Amino acid sequence: MPKPPQMQADRDVNDFVRTLVDHVPSMLAYWDSELRCRFANHAYERWFGVDPNGLIGTSLRDLLGPELYVLNEPHIQGVLRGEEQYFERVIPGPGGIKRHSLAVYIPDIVQGRVLGFTVQVSEVTKLKEVEASLRAQIETNEHAYAQLRRSEQALREAQQLGQIGSWEWHIEPDTVSWSEELFHIFGLDPAGEAPGVASQAPLFTPASWKVLSDILQSTLTTGEPYVIELEYVKADKRVGWMEARGTAVRDDSGQIVRLHGTAMDITARRLMQEARVQRDIAEASNRNKTKLLSRISHELRTPLNGIMGYAQLNILDPLASETQRQRNEVVLSCGQHMLQLVDDILDLSSAELGHMAVRCLELNLQDIVHACLADFIPIAARAKVDLVNLIGRDQSLQVLGDPTRVRQIINNLVSNAIKYNRPHGQVAITASIGDSHIDLQIEDSGIGMSEAQLARIFTPFDRLGAEHSDVEGAGLGLALSHALAGWMGGTILVESHPGQGSRFTLRLARCL
Ligand code: ADP
Repeated sequence: MPKPPQMQADRDVNDFVRTLVDHVPSMLAYWDSELRCRFANHAYERWFGVDPNGLIGTSLRDLLGPELYVLNEPHIQGVLRGEEQYFERVIPGPGGIKRHSLAVYIPDIVQGRVLGFTVQVSEVTKLKEVEASLRAQIETNEHAYAQLRRSEQALREAQQLGQIGSWEWHIEPDTVSWSEELFHIFGLDPAGEAPGVASQAPLFTPASWKVLSDILQSTLTTGEPYVIELEYVKADKRVGWMEARGTAVRDDSGQIVRLHGTAMDITARRLMQEARVQRDIAEASNRNKTKLLSRISHELRTPLNGIMGYAQLNILDPLASETQRQRNEVVLSCGQHMLQLVDDILDLSSAELGHMAVRCLELNLQDIVHACLADFIPIAARAKVDLVNLIGRDQSLQVLGDPTRVRQIINNLVSNAIKYNRPHGQVAITASIGDSHIDLQIEDSGIGMSEAQLARIFTPFDRLGAEHSDVEGAGLGLALSHALAGWMGGTILVESHPGQGSRFTLRLARCL
C-alpha cells in the first residue's frame, strides 16, 4: 500500500531512496538465495503488469514463467556462484509488447556467502532499433562499396585491355590525377604521383609536346573537346604513339574548372599503318618497274623481228657464201632466244599487272604431257638423262586450263628437270588425282635446292646461283609458270633436297 503523502521535512533518506528507485525506468529488485523476491521497484508493474509489493515473497520462476526462466537459469546459477552476469534478453510484457533488455545480476556476498542478488533490467529497445538501423546502413554502405570496388576493378581491366588510360586536371588548385593504366603506358610506377601538366614535357617528343600544350591552352579558353595523336616517350626512352582525347568541365557559373580525358596507346596501329604505306609504295614502284619492262620488251619486239627477218633472207640468199650463212644462222638463233625472252617478260608483266588472258577449257593432261615429252626426247638424250613417263594409261586426267599455257608450264618444268640434273640422272613424270584437283609431278635426281633457295624460287630473274654455271637461262621460267598456274586457278608446289633432286608439282583444277 502506498504511504500517504508526507511533508518534505518529515521524509527520511529511505523515503527519498524509495521515491528514486520507483522513478527509475529500469527494473530493480533483490532476490534471495532461495530465489524469492525481497524487493522490487515500480518498474515491475510496467514490465510484467504485477504489483511490486505483491511480488515480495514470490519466486523468480513464477514471475518469469517456465520459458523465460529456462533461458535465464544459467545466469541465475552464475550469480548464485558469486559471478556478476550481464546479458541481453527480449522480455514479453502486457499487451504483447516486446522489450529488448539488458540485465545485470550482481551477487550480494556477505562473508563469502551469496545471500542473494540484485537485479537491474534496463530497456534497450531504442538502442537496439538504432543499432539495427546502423547495421542496415553499414550493410547498404558495404554493398555500395563492394559494387564501387567491382566497377573500379572492371574499369581498370577495361583500361588495361584497351590500353586506355584516363586523367583529370583540376585547375585550381593545380592538381593532376592519372588512372593506373596511364602510368603503365608511360612505363611509370602507378604507386607514384602523376606529374603536373607543367612538368609533362619530357613525356613527349618536342613536336608532340608543342601540339599538346597548344591544344590544352586552347581548350582552357574555348572549352572545345579535342582528339589528337601524340608521340610519347616512355621511362625507358622508347617512343610510342597515343591517341589523346580531352574535354573541359565547367562549374555552375560557366567557368572551366577542370579538364579530363583519355590516352589510348596506338603504337601497334601506327606501326601497321606505316608498314602499309611502305608496302603500298613498294608495290607501286614494283608496278612501275613492271610497266617499264613491259614497254621496253614491247618496243624490242619490232626491231627484233626485223633483224630475224633479214637474217632469214640472208640464209636463203643463193649468192651468200657458206660462212655468211653460218653467221646468219647464229644471228637468227640469238634473235629467237631474245624473242623468247621478250615474250616471257611480256607475259610476266601482263600477269603482274593483271592483264593476263588465259582460257579455261577442259583438257586431257595426259595428251599434253605426251606431246611435250616427245619434244624433249632428243634434249634428254643429249644430256644423258633418262626421261620416264609413269602416268598410268587408264588414269583420267581431265583438268581445267589453257592448253598453250599448261604446255608452257610443263615445258619449263621438264626443261629445268633435265637442265639441273646430272649425267645418267632421271626425270620421272607421275600424276595423282585429288578430290578437286589433279597433280602432275615432275621429279628429278638432279642438283636439288636448299631451303634458302626455295624461298626465292619464284622471284623473276633470280637464278639462285645458276648464273655462275654453264646452264643457260634467264630466271624467268618458274616465275612465269607460277603466275600462269595461279591464273588458271592452280599452283606450283616444290620439294627439294640439295644433292638429291627436286619434285615440282603442277596442281590444276580437276574437271568434275
Ligand atoms: P632458269 O632460266 O634459270 O632456268 P627458272 O625460273 O626456270 O629459270 O628457274 C629459276 C632457278 O631455279 C634456276 O636458275 C635454278 O637455279 C633453279 N631451278 C629450277 N628448276 C630446278 C630443278 N629442277 N633443280 C634444281 N634447280 C632448279
